[in-house]
Amino acid sequence: MCMKRIVVLGAAESGAGAAVLAKKKGFDVFVSDMSNIKDKYKRLLDSHGIQWEEGRHTEALILNADEIIKSPGIPENAPMVMKLKAQGTPIISEIEFAGRYTHAKMICITGSNGKTTTTSLIYHILKQAGYNVGLAGNIGSSLALQVAEENYDYYVIELSSFQLDNMYDFKADIAILMNITPDHLDRYDYKMQNYVDSKMRITRNQTENDAFVFWNDDPIVKKELKKYNIRARLFPFSEFKELGAIAYVEDREFVVESPEPFNMEQEELALRGKHNLYNSLAAAITADIAGVSKEEIRKGLSDFAGVEHRLEKAGRVRGIDFVNDSKATNVNACWYALESMTQPTVLILGGKDKGNDYSEIFDLVREKCIGLVFLGVDNSKLHAAFDGFGIPIADVKSMKDCVDECYKMAKPGSCVLLSPCCASFDLFKNMEDRGEQFKECVRNL
Ligand code: ADP
Repeated sequence: MCMKRIVVLGAAESGAGAAVLAKKKGFDVFVSDMSNIKDKYKRLLDSHGIQWEEGRHTEALILNADEIIKSPGIPENAPMVMKLKAQGTPIISEIEFAGRYTHAKMICITGSNGKTTTTSLIYHILKQAGYNVGLAGNIGSSLALQVAEENYDYYVIELSSFQLDNMYDFKADIAILMNITPDHLDRYDYKMQNYVDSKMRITRNQTENDAFVFWNDDPIVKKELKKYNIRARLFPFSEFKELGAIAYVEDREFVVESPEPFNMEQEELALRGKHNLYNSLAAAITADIAGVSKEEIRKGLSDFAGVEHRLEKAGRVRGIDFVNDSKATNVNACWYALESMTQPTVLILGGKDKGNDYSEIFDLVREKCIGLVFLGVDNSKLHAAFDGFGIPIADVKSMKDCVDECYKMAKPGSCVLLSPCCASFDLFKNMEDRGEQFKECVRNL
C-alpha cells in the first residue's frame, strides 16, 4: 500500500512541529519553505529524517501531496496555495492536524486583543492547580510537537484568525472569544465580515457538552450570536452585572455565578486595567468550567506575574514608576493602558504609524498626562495631534535619550508609561527589543 503523502508549507514553529508529528504517525513527509528555514528547525527536521527545501516551492514535490498542512503565515492567495486548491488538495492547519491525535481537552482563546494575556493566565491557573497542561498556539512550542512528544490532559491554545481559517473537524471543549475589532483586513479581501466569520469558527463543531465564553458587550459578537446556532453552553462575561452576564464586577467584588459560584475582591486581582478585568473574568470562568477549585482560581488570579511587554512593571526610581507596554502597537491598546493609570503619567508615543487616529486617546491624554515624549524617526503626525494640548513635549531618537527625558519630566509619585501606539521597526528590531531596551535604560538610571 502506498504511504499517504503530507506536505508541510512553511517551516517555522507550527510547520516544523506538524512535520515531526506527521512523520511519527507514519506519513511520507516533505517540508517546503519559500524563505530560509531557521537552523533550529532544520536540526529538528534532520533529527527526524524529514526531507525539506528552502528558498523555493518545487511543484513536483508538492502537488503530489494527499494533504497539505499550511503555516498560518502563508496567505490563501499565495500562488502555490491557489494551485493546490484548484486541483482539490485538502489544506489544513497544524492545529487541525494535531487535534486528530490527542484526546486532551482543548481550551482555545481567540479575539482581536487580549489573546496572549488570557491564554497565559488560564495556563498559569491550571498549572498551579496541578493540572497536566500544555501551552500552545501562538505562544511557546507548537501543539503538534507537544502532541508528538508529551502526554497532556489539557491544552491551553492561543488561536489567531489565520489558524482558525484552516480548521474543519477540530473542536474546542472550551472556546473563548475576547472581542472582535478590525485587524488583518488585508488578508480578508478588506471585508470585515470575512474576518468576523474567521473568529466565529472558534465555536465550530461544539456540542451541548462544550462551553463558549465571550465578552457580552462586544457589539459584533452579539450580532453574530443571533446568526449562529451555537449549541455549546454560553458563558457571557461583562464589566457590570447585566442581563445575561454570568461573570462581572459588583460593588468591587469579582463574581462568577456558574458553573460553581465564585467571588473575590477586585483589589486582589494581579492584573490592572479594564482590559485585564475582561481577561481575568474570561480566565476565571474557564478555570471554573475546567473544575479548578475556588481557592486555586483566587490564588492564580492574584499571583499571576503578567506577560512581558504588556503593562509590565519595569522598576521604580526616585518614587517614579516605569511601565513597559511595548506591545501596545495600536491606539486601542494604548487607550486601555492609559485608562488603567492612577498616577500623573509621562507617556512615550511613536514609531512606525499604521494609519493611526490619535483622537481616540485625546481625552485620556488631557486627563492623565503631564508630559509626552515622542520616540520615532518621524514624529510629525504626533506633533500635529498633540502640540495644542499645552503639555510639555520632547523628541528623541534613542531609548537612552527617551528614558533620560522622561526622568526629567516625571516627579516622584508619577509614572512613565511606554505604550507607543506604533510598531517599532523604525528604531528597533521588534517590540520585544524596544521593551528590553526600555527596561535596561530604567535599570541604568
Ligand atoms: P494579543 O495576543 O491578542 O495581541 P495581548 O494580550 O498580547 O493580546 O495584548 C496586546 C495589547 O492589547 C496589550 O498592549 C494590551 O494593552 C491590550 N489588551 C490586552 N487585553 C485586551 C482586551 N481584553 N481588550 C482590549 N485590549 C487589550
